[in-house]
Amino acid sequence: MDDSNQAALSRSTVLVTGAAGYIGSHAVTELLRQGCRVVAVDNYSNSSSEVYARIERLAGASFVRAEVDVRDDAALDKLLSQHRVDACIHFAALKSVSESMAQPLRYLDNNVGGLLTLLRVLRKHGVQGFVFSSSATVYGDPVRVPVPEVASLNAVSVYGATKLMGEKILQQLTAITPEFERPWRVVVLRYFNPVGAHPSGQIGEAPRGVPNNLMPCVAQVAAGLRPKLNIFGDTYPTPDGTCVRDYIHIQDLVAGHVAALRHLLGDGASLTLNLGTGLGTSVRQLVETFMQVNGVAVPYEVVAPRAGDVAQCFADPSLAHQVLGWRAHHDLADMCRDAWRWQCSRPRSHA
Ligand code: NAD
Ligand code: UDP
Repeated sequence: MDDSNQAALSRSTVLVTGAAGYIGSHAVTELLRQGCRVVAVDNYSNSSSEVYARIERLAGASFVRAEVDVRDDAALDKLLSQHRVDACIHFAALKSVSESMAQPLRYLDNNVGGLLTLLRVLRKHGVQGFVFSSSATVYGDPVRVPVPEVASLNAVSVYGATKLMGEKILQQLTAITPEFERPWRVVVLRYFNPVGAHPSGQIGEAPRGVPNNLMPCVAQVAAGLRPKLNIFGDTYPTPDGTCVRDYIHIQDLVAGHVAALRHLLGDGASLTLNLGTGLGTSVRQLVETFMQVNGVAVPYEVVAPRAGDVAQCFADPSLAHQVLGWRAHHDLADMCRDAWRWQCSRPRSHA
């Protein structure tokens, strides 16, 4: 790691949107731990401000927080007039694939409209270092795995399309620098399947209602909150017939953001990178590992495949290692252990 980039990072102030959410809350904790100042923004559409007290306790530092919708340019403008920031990590988005198909306009407005408004206000305040949360969903059904960043892109859902549009907007901004303007520098991070929780068990994923994603479903079944897990299909062309994904520990994912920020604050070039482990894990493997490392039962039943699921998707993460020196360190057992610790210790309001 370049010492001057680390020094720039620990002197910086970072605007974090979607800061109260699953990934945002872990990122804010780690940024504070790295010595950064944080300005946190969220509209709490899928989270609660209660998480902030736990972040401050964990990090032993406080930060600025504001209830602001990223589509509200006046509120963002006011916030950035009060707090000078050096870079932005943009997590705020709606993220349910199924909901995006039922409410396409809401997703386009929130995710694409929100990005455009945010970029406009950032530019006005001279903030042009930007980290964008994208997703492996932009690869659609990959032709080959592991998937490199240069693979063809094809979003199947409206949610995926909002991420692809976001990437394209940012590509336009980084490709063209009008005369007398500072260039944008953007790192687009394509996450594979973030799971697990902070090892303290104090913060984690708190889905509202019935979770869509595999790990929170497994944890809730293990806790007896749901009678059984539905495994969506076991006749896929994979080793055990269940779908294969690249699960990545939330702490590794967050470390990737810190590395990306360090790169930007050190005047690094714009990049698009996969954040994954490079390992494919089947649904059955994940469930069995969860039961084994935690000593709990997860009753399950194989049901019909879920519409839109692809058989396998896992990353080629070598570019992130090459340019950022980043790689994932936690294994599947760590992910299952930390997900279970969070499930067992989460506050009642997040049950
Ligand atoms: P999350 O729902 O837990 O967090 C998103 C946060 O953004 C929430 O706190 C929500 O209240 C806030 N938000 C949404 N719209 C907003 C708006 N208009 N203004 C202000 N705040 C708003 O989701 P997450 O899992 O933490 O995801 C963070 C980012 O990562 C999202 O962009 C998501 O699309 C992306 N991503 C997540 C995953 C995953 O599996 N969790 C995978 C790939 C990409
Ligand atoms: N899955 C499952 N049961 C569930 C939730 C998910 O079998 O209750 C499967 C799903 O079909 C997919 C994998 O687990 O193959 C990961 O699903 P998730 O929604 O977490 O991630 P994504 O599909 O977005 O990669």
